[in-house]
Amino acid sequence: MIDTFPAYGGAVAQRSGGAVAAAKVGAVAAVVRSVSLAINDDPHTGTMDYGPPVPKIPAVTISTAAADRLDALLQSDPDARLFIRTSCATLPPVTSHNVMGELTGSEKPDEVVVVGGHIDSWDLSVGAHDDGAGCAQSIEALRLLRELGLKPKRTIRVVLYMDEENGGSGGRDYARSENRKAERHIAAIESDRGGFLPLGFGVSATGAMLARIRSWEPLMQKIGLQWIRPGGGGVDIGPLGESGTVLIDLVPDSQRYFDVHHSGIDTLDKVNSRELQLGANAMALMGWLLAEDGVTSSGTPRTAPGR
Ligand SMILES: [Zn+2]
Repeated sequence: MIDTFPAYGGAVAQRSGGAVAAAKVGAVAAVVRSVSLAINDDPHTGTMDYGPPVPKIPAVTISTAAADRLDALLQSDPDARLFIRTSCATLPPVTSHNVMGELTGSEKPDEVVVVGGHIDSWDLSVGAHDDGAGCAQSIEALRLLRELGLKPKRTIRVVLYMDEENGGSGGRDYARSENRKAERHIAAIESDRGGFLPLGFGVSATGAMLARIRSWEPLMQKIGLQWIRPGGGGVDIGPLGESGTVLIDLVPDSQRYFDVHHSGIDTLDKVNSRELQLGANAMALMGWLLAEDGVTSSGTPRTAPGR
């Protein structure tokens, strides 16, 4: 697969469902090869589930290089034994928070365009690409608009969601909060595919709205993006889609993302500041166009803004 995201999507069940599948056939533990294309000694973590009625057996992930060594060892010595010691535990939930800031709309402040990423990360690194990049780009998008002195008609709100990685409660709580009841969410843009060179936007919207947003493709091409394609979304903004919000995700080049994703090497030195900035530029432009145009509230398409 050229796009690594569907490749990951097709392989990740080995991690998320590996322990259950192994327990069903009588395994005492599950050892999973990291879901990554990079061959190195950095293991990649992520969510996994237990399901009744099978026993909850220990489950670990080892690095791709370690998996290759284990495989070679088992080929040469089928009676080789593996000793596993784990110290994992699931602790009770604690209260945490989404982080928000906004440029309030000058004409329709209750109509909102969200730009966001998630502020949590797996604990074995800072999560520079997943999803520090999306947080930085969202904040930068608003900063750019403010620096340009632009005052959007509708509110553009940065939302840095908590708990994308371990269940998505931040996204759900944002969409269902009492504080949202008086607001109307026009669109939500998520950046959660790493801070790499942006290629385009994916958009989930109905026919006329999709066509309207895709008509902005030439504007996006002026700042280096290649396309606006149908089909977009994300874990954090997904719950907003239930009430008809247009869901959009920034799609960067995916080739290096899963080298670092959920591993100890998802660190700031892996982020190219210029590529990161290009993504922020794109989010600023898309957020601005949505906030000026309104898309869903406009009913029939109007002429494209000449900005
Ligand atoms: Zn993420």
